[in-house]
Amino acid sequence: MNLSKLDEILKSAPVFRLAQAKKAVFFDLVEDWSKATTISKDLREKLRKEVPLEIKGKILVSKNGRTVKAALELEDGLKIETVLMKHTDKRNTVCVSSQVGCPLGCLFCVTGTMGFKRNLTSSEIVEQVLFFARYLKKDKEKITNVVFMGMGEPFLNWENVKKAIEILNDDNCFGIGARKISVSTAGITEGIERLAEDFPQINLAISLHAPDDKLRGELMPVNQKYPLEKILKSVDEYIEKTNRKVMFEYVMLKDVNDSEEQAKKLAKRLKYPLYMVNLIAYNPNGRFESSSPERIKKFKAVLEKAGIFATQRYRFGTDIEAACGQLAGK
Ligand code: SAH
Ligand code: SF4
Repeated sequence: MNLSKLDEILKSAPVFRLAQAKKAVFFDLVEDWSKATTISKDLREKLRKEVPLEIKGKILVSKNGRTVKAALELEDGLKIETVLMKHTDKRNTVCVSSQVGCPLGCLFCVTGTMGFKRNLTSSEIVEQVLFFARYLKKDKEKITNVVFMGMGEPFLNWENVKKAIEILNDDNCFGIGARKISVSTAGITEGIERLAEDFPQINLAISLHAPDDKLRGELMPVNQKYPLEKILKSVDEYIEKTNRKVMFEYVMLKDVNDSEEQAKKLAKRLKYPLYMVNLIAYNPNGRFESSSPERIKKFKAVLEKAGIFATQRYRFGTDIEAACGQLAGK
């Protein structure tokens, strides 16, 4: 699917035509232009040829039915993975990919170990949400939230991610509120600045994973260019501009970053009312082991005792390799 082509084709037509076409795609969720009966037959025929609506994807559903992973095939044959998480409170979150692979190579992340293939276009990003919107249509449910926590580093593909967010946010398209959209970054500070300028209402999450540069550098090579202090300074500027809370993600690796001492060190660095910490259970990719639930609880307690708001992320879809850091486009 190529959404910019849609704009291009309908450029010279009356404005309402484009609105009608977008309504058919994003609201009626038609999978074939022949079903878009508000549009003239000639135009439908043209759109069928030039903006095909088919999305090629295979799905895997977790045992409890709440996590659905889709492997989508792109026009050039490359594959990406995207995940739907159905929460018990009727929220439906799509975790989208922004790149095929990732150039940052974090040691604990499957996407990182597969290397980088290419950036996704804005249409390819939007398509992931569209795929699951169609999937949910049969149950009369909707996508309510989108997180950029799939494959890739969104701030290394900002122009396309930005365009995709505009489409997700647009009331004539998905109409997903900015506060229901989150972007997660390994700490690309230029991107944090852009987010504050372009979308001050969108949620920011930072992948931290270590309380000091030595360990962070071992786990995340990107720490060389973007060390902790630089990231935290950028986050503070972000908060000053937006007055929004910021979430720090911390994946719990057994005997690597999960000690009480490390929790205390982290607490010292993150003492700020608008900082939150989200502890993520590590989904094994072969290199590390996950911390025990007791360890995670203890770590969380240390942070809370120091006055830091901390949560633990519910684990979705490990049985279908759909959890954080397990996406590989197999
Ligand atoms: N590149 C961005 C966004 C995608 S990764 C980033 O790193 O923030 C989304 C989240 O999943 C990040 O917090 C990442 O650190 C985490 N993650 C990666 N591998 C993981 C694994 N094996 N288990 C649990 N979380 C993981
Ligand atoms: Fe890339 Fe994020 Fe995975 Fe690191 S954790 S390799 S930045 S996708």
